[in-house]
Amino acid sequence: MPRNSRTMVVYLLHYREPIGDLSRPRMFAQHYVGSYWSESRLTSHRNGTSGVPIVAEFHRRGIPFVVARITPGGKTLEARIKTRGHFREYCPECVAVPRNGRLWGDLVRPDGVR
Ligand SMILES: [Zn+2]
Repeated sequence: MPRNSRTMVVYLLHYREPIGDLSRPRMFAQHYVGSYWSESRLTSHRNGTSGVPIVAEFHRRGIPFVVARITPGGKTLEARIKTRGHFREYCPECVAVPRNGRLWGDLVRPDGVR
């Protein structure tokens, strides 16, 4: 977690279990990418009140998440990362050696976020 709460970061949430049709690779989800300017945004994801439908669905099913990685950036970078997709390849919870690339940069794991 950035010490300056006003720092904009893009974060990758990794859920402990996927939801959707597991037999169809493009029809299930295990990640969510967002950006925030306060820790209250993550809190609202945790308690299911952030207004993001897929996050609410994970919460409804009782599936917890970890913040898998963060990178400096705001809504523009968030949109570019979402367009690129393939979150699993960049997720250190999913793969031993996650990709970095120019969007995510070097792997940064938030301190103390579990
Ligand atoms: Zn993952």
